[in-house]
Amino acid sequence: MFDLNVDELKDLVVGRNPILLLLDFDGTLSDIAPRPEQATLCPGNHLLLCQLANRAEFVVGVISGRSLHDVEARVNVPGLVYAGNHGLEIRGLGLDYRHPDADSASQTISQASHDLEIRLAGVPGAFVENKTYTLTTHFRQTPPYYHDQVVSAFDDITHPLVQSGSCHVTEAKMALELRPSIDWNKGRALTLIRSRLSPDSFPIYMGDDATDEDAFGAVRSAGGVAVFVGATGIPTCASWRLPSPAEVSAALVELVTL
Ligand SMILES: [Mg+2]
Repeated sequence: MFDLNVDELKDLVVGRNPILLLLDFDGTLSDIAPRPEQATLCPGNHLLLCQLANRAEFVVGVISGRSLHDVEARVNVPGLVYAGNHGLEIRGLGLDYRHPDADSASQTISQASHDLEIRLAGVPGAFVENKTYTLTTHFRQTPPYYHDQVVSAFDDITHPLVQSGSCHVTEAKMALELRPSIDWNKGRALTLIRSRLSPDSFPIYMGDDATDEDAFGAVRSAGGVAVFVGATGIPTCASWRLPSPAEVSAALVELVTL
């Protein structure tokens, strides 16, 4: 993996047309916030995304683990394609997609959310985010003393669902996610968006977390640029690295001025 000098980004993409630019939200377009509802676009990103969306040679979108409604409201830039719940729901630029198995998962997720809320009621800083088709248990603000308690509560509630094959668990930054066992992820979502909106496009994807790895793989298979956002030494299949969301913003500036 190579550190991406934002000046070099132009060399990688110059002459490519159209460009499909898809970005994760938390830790990529936004700094990681103590609580998910506090996350906002980094300064300048709203204008940059508007400018990119207005360029004829760009198709721009955001792929997030948040619910579709949440990520749409939080970015609030018209003319983008938005994917929520790791791509189980996608909307924008004429695309309106929900994975056919998503609705049947919502009852399971709802029950697990309820059970987890009861188990975590006495744990400081821990809370459950029910995103209808997936759920996230957050413990960024939980003192380390309680971390084992969060993990064992999560394991107890989710173990039967994982054993039965109906759900699987993914780990994110100070968060545990329960997702239905649907053969779907950010990479599959990226491939669907590309095939429906701009099949011949040159794809770029930037993301900061383990759930972004599928999208890195999909971008690389399509010959595009996969950019991991974060510190060195973290295993990733991305070929390029930017150290933080601030450098993502700098990269967007480079792309706007292509
Ligand atoms: Mg992220």
